Amino acid sequence: MAAFPDRSICRAAKVVYPTTEEELILAVANATMANTKMKVATRTSHSIPKLVCPEGDNGLLISTKYLNRTLDVNVSSMTMTVESGMTLRELINDAAEAKLALPYAPYWWGLTIGGMMGTAEEGYAKVRTLEIGNPELNAAKVSLGVLGVISQVTFKLQPMFKRSVTYITKNDSDFGAEAISFGRKHEYADFMWYPSQKQVVYRIDDRVPSNTSGNGLLDFPGFRSTASLVVSGLRTTEETEESQGDANGKCINGKATTFTLKTMAFGLTNNGILFTGYPVVGYHNRLQASGTCLDSLEDLTITACPWDHRVKGLFFHQTTFSISLSKVKNFIEDVQKLVALEPKSMCVLDLYNGILIRYVTASTAYLGKQEDALDFDITYYRSKDPMSPRLYEDILEEIEQIAMFKYGALPHWGKNRNLAFDGVINKYKSGIEFLKVKAKYDPLGLFSSSWTDQILGLNGVETVDKEGCALEGLCICSQDIHCAPKKNYFCRPGKVYRDARVCTSVYTN
Ligand SMILES: Cc1cc2nc3c(=O)[nH]c(=O)nc-3n(C[C@H](O)[C@H](O)[C@H](O)COP(=O)(O)OP(=O)(O)OC[C@H]3O[C@@H](n4cnc5c(N)ncnc54)[C@H](O)[C@@H]3O)c2cc1C
Repeated sequence: MAAFPDRSICRAAKVVYPTTEEELILAVANATMANTKMKVATRTSHSIPKLVCPEGDNGLLISTKYLNRTLDVNVSSMTMTVESGMTLRELINDAAEAKLALPYAPYWWGLTIGGMMGTAEEGYAKVRTLEIGNPELNAAKVSLGVLGVISQVTFKLQPMFKRSVTYITKNDSDFGAEAISFGRKHEYADFMWYPSQKQVVYRIDDRVPSNTSGNGLLDFPGFRSTASLVVSGLRTTEETEESQGDANGKCINGKATTFTLKTMAFGLTNNGILFTGYPVVGYHNRLQASGTCLDSLEDLTITACPWDHRVKGLFFHQTTFSISLSKVKNFIEDVQKLVALEPKSMCVLDLYNGILIRYVTASTAYLGKQEDALDFDITYYRSKDPMSPRLYEDILEEIEQIAMFKYGALPHWGKNRNLAFDGVINKYKSGIEFLKVKAKYDPLGLFSSSWTDQILGLNGVETVDKEGCALEGLCICSQDIHCAPKKNYFCRPGKVYRDARVCTSVYTN
């Protein structure tokens, strides 16, 4: 199914599966000699924007599926070198075997190391080794895949440690103020926010001495292998509620989902089997990420990851961005004002566990976080029909525009709808430095596409002007036709952020 923001299909003339660095270099050299456009594809390719597609139909995809080995573990220097197709899960496990820990990482096991970063290569394919201190490493850390191919990465690790995790639920009335300071009190602090339920779940999570007893484990229910029938049932319920405009149904199901997740301690157990109460204490590698649905049976008609496009399952937009700590209180309060005006509007998030909020720190990467910030992860229903509006479309569009434009949020490069990337390169103070490294590493632009040129400000804008374009985030509406006037969705100003232009249903307003 065409799941990129513009619903296009990714085509390539050929896919190669190198198994060694030599084969990888040969593949790049051959493609470069033939002036062929190319891109790296990972085992499961999780990014939502169209980063992975080579330009045109004649391109080459280079798969990192078989480049997934640990090459070196040096216990005394606490470093580990791995191939770029290795998944986060494999990295965490191999490091743990040497009693080492990757201190900070995404929560989902299925990402690859190359996918989390970007690219780099003699002759036609040049091999670059970027050591700490080389400014070009700042381009490779977040490379969007436009610099070349990353073959290996060396991580600096820490001795394995234990953590103690407790979730507590609070009313969200003072959340704007709390959100700024809570992260300074707990190393692994984060939040799950359910704005329509006016609740926030705070994660109190810190390192503890290694002799603290406990062998806790995280297996987040949303990343578990789920019966395909159950996933399909969830999707059917959502489709029915959407088609009937059933906000009450969404709120009831949303509360039930939150209750179930809380009862399951969000997948934490004290000993790997049972949850007997907080705190859950355990080794970092067992708590930092999960994703047992990677072990789903080959037969997808039985079990799958809930979002696997090969089965009828969850299909969603993800609006994910970071807002600097200095602006976060105002942003949270703007969302709360919207909820005061439309109390049921955020129930549409609860099936996806509300808004996940994490602390992120300023990075030296040219396209990384510019300052310490909070990262907001919002997942919500997407219709299979691109011309079909959603329940509370206007409220979520307004939040997206408040974040990106009123507060200058940085969109997550691997998520988001196209409008979030309009002019994005201007938000990065070293954007020009990145472009210089790109011009040096890939002077022919073989790793670039129209999409990557657009987001880097080299080729027009990402948004398009066509019927229904605002529904899928391909534009911000400026005329009713960009929404769905025949279905009573018209282009209107935002309710809290008057500069926003959103598709509003005349029935719910
Ligand atoms: C369930 C789920 C949970 C997620 N959780 C998080 C999270 O907690 N935190 C977070 O930040 N993100 C999260 N994401 C988003 C995800 O991290 C990013 O989209 C990530 O980039 C995807 O990694 P991937 O290995 O699938 O890479 P892909 O999406 O396949 O590739 C991303 C880009 O990197 C390029 N690339 C890949 N490998 C190489 C290489 N070896 N050399 C050069 N270029 C390369 C590709 O060509 C492409 O341009 C999640 C996504 C899902 C589906």
